Amino acid sequence: MAVIKVPVSKLSKAKRDDDSKQSCAREEDRSNEWDNACAICDDGGDFICCEGGCLRSFHPTKKYGEDSMCTTLGLTEEWWQTLQSNEQEKYICKNCEYKQHQCFACGLLGSSGLTSGSEVIQCKDKMCGYFYHPKCVAELVHPDSKAQAIFFEKRVALGLTFHCPLHRCSLCKEAENRDDKDMQLAVCRRCPTAYHRKCLPSDISFEKDGKEGTQQRAWDNVLPDQILIYCMKHKIDKDLRTPKRDHIVFPDDRPLSEPSRSSQPPETGCDQVKAIDSFAPRHLFPHPQPGSCGWIDD
Ligand SMILES: [Zn+2]
Ligand SMILES: [Zn+2]
Ligand SMILES: [Zn+2]
Ligand SMILES: [Zn+2]
Ligand SMILES: [Zn+2]
Ligand SMILES: [Zn+2]
Repeated sequence: MAVIKVPVSKLSKAKRDDDSKQSCAREEDRSNEWDNACAICDDGGDFICCEGGCLRSFHPTKKYGEDSMCTTLGLTEEWWQTLQSNEQEKYICKNCEYKQHQCFACGLLGSSGLTSGSEVIQCKDKMCGYFYHPKCVAELVHPDSKAQAIFFEKRVALGLTFHCPLHRCSLCKEAENRDDKDMQLAVCRRCPTAYHRKCLPSDISFEKDGKEGTQQRAWDNVLPDQILIYCMKHKIDKDLRTPKRDHIVFPDDRPLSEPSRSSQPPETGCDQVKAIDSFAPRHLFPHPQPGSCGWIDD
């Protein structure tokens, strides 16, 4: 069973304290391949990690989500205890169980289990668990050339592997270098947008409650050698201090959202799940077409 323990809830701490010194050492195993922030609330803490291949970590029970107002997976205490105490027990999330993953560009679910003909395909980067429709990733990689995008999409659909846009700076287009602080990437948690630290737009601020009511959008010390950001495409919820949390869709489930804020009827079936407005601009993806998309770079 994979449990990551990050001793201090870092994002909450960063949100609560003006004291910028980090009291917590990075005690977690740096070699672990799972995400160091909860997929739902983007905060640190104790996680349960999906062993189905999506590389996501989740706050397991309500108790672990209290600090960050996380809806969590809502596991029962008994199940959580069993998972922790039994090495043989594995947690597999619903997306991995049903091989239905969301495209990180358009937010829609697509089948991911087939060796050929998958609707969404996972980025080849070993640390990156995100999936994309070939068409969605192609449009992101070749925004200025429809012909190149179509060619790229076809190659991805035929099995060409690709690095997704989160591994290059969207401003200067150069790759990341985790050993050079300026060249570390700030990666958006809600869409495939990344910037070098040196290229980070000034409105994506590390400061809490800056002048003119600007809200904090960037955090150091949550992700190893990367900066966690919410890019300017996403509105920050004042109470949550993150964008609204409707970005995770499990198959046969409805978008996870704050219970008190949920005003929409439950969605059923993956083809009824709406595109999520906090993802990349909708005009880029008017008609996401599972199975006909793609993006490759090498
Ligand atoms: Zn969480
Ligand atoms: Zn999973
Ligand atoms: Zn898509
Ligand atoms: Zn990637
Ligand atoms: Zn750059
Ligand atoms: Zn974004």
